[in-house]
Amino acid sequence: MRNLIVIDLEWNTASRKLKVDPELAAKMPFEIIEIGAVKLDDRLAPVETFHRRVRPQLYTQLQYHIAQVTGRTQQSLGEGKPFASVAADLFDFAGEDPVFASWGTSDPDVLLSNLVFHAMNPIPAFGALNVQAVFSNFAEGTTRGNQRSIEYALDFLRMEKDLPFHEALSDALYAARILQTTLKPEQEAGGTPASLLGGFVYDPFLNRQLEERVELGKDVQVTEYLRNRSYACPACGRPVSGDWLEINPGKSWFAAGVCPEHGDIELTAKRARRSRVPAIMIRIRIPQGPLFIPQPASQKEPLVWVDPDA
Ligand SMILES: [Zn+2]
Repeated sequence: MRNLIVIDLEWNTASRKLKVDPELAAKMPFEIIEIGAVKLDDRLAPVETFHRRVRPQLYTQLQYHIAQVTGRTQQSLGEGKPFASVAADLFDFAGEDPVFASWGTSDPDVLLSNLVFHAMNPIPAFGALNVQAVFSNFAEGTTRGNQRSIEYALDFLRMEKDLPFHEALSDALYAARILQTTLKPEQEAGGTPASLLGGFVYDPFLNRQLEERVELGKDVQVTEYLRNRSYACPACGRPVSGDWLEINPGKSWFAAGVCPEHGDIELTAKRARRSRVPAIMIRIRIPQGPLFIPQPASQKEPLVWVDPDA
């Protein structure tokens, strides 16, 4: 298993008081102001911590809601170090080609956008892992709980809440403890971090998702349409095919595909809502964890397009 580092980032964003060049803002909508990180050993126990504040360059005015949530002050923003030096320290701390685990999937995306904005060259390789997905999968037995908070997970696992919330290092420590506690039964049963977490590690540098809206004629059989067209891997464009199943009659469809380079591909289609003409939304996604295959509902009703305006 690659070095596993749990990270938590705090970031600032545009505020009303401060005018920012919209072109720059589009490149970096969220600017890191604090990084907390916890290195885990091969039993997933925390062994070393990292904590730095970053002096923002673009959003120099602390946004009101971020100040409320994090308890940070305007003055404290100036006490941080420049991003480039903090990022270099973080990658020194993490070691070569680490996996950054975080609660949710925002942190790796924000880290990447900040590395690109500050023209770090080359950007060191790193993998990503969503601790929330691991918690939902093993502790809750679901792939659907993607909106759980750290506090929810601590309550669910009956863990202590002895650290402040919404501080980079304490949130990273909480996420690390949740990961360790979630996998404790699996580890005791002989699972290793590599065997348990390997399927959850993803590449944050890849484009992982494509979406397409398709308008269909009224008489088109959606399953037939889906089976007879082509799909491409979002990351590399290689053709991907899968056997389409109707999950909810007339409403949703699913197929499991494989890219020779990027592995499992999740293909889903849903009937578009609030649409004047029959339409479906197709999503082609590289999953950020093991592929979840939904079970079709029993097919009682025939596939009929219902005109919402009728
Ligand atoms: Zn691919």
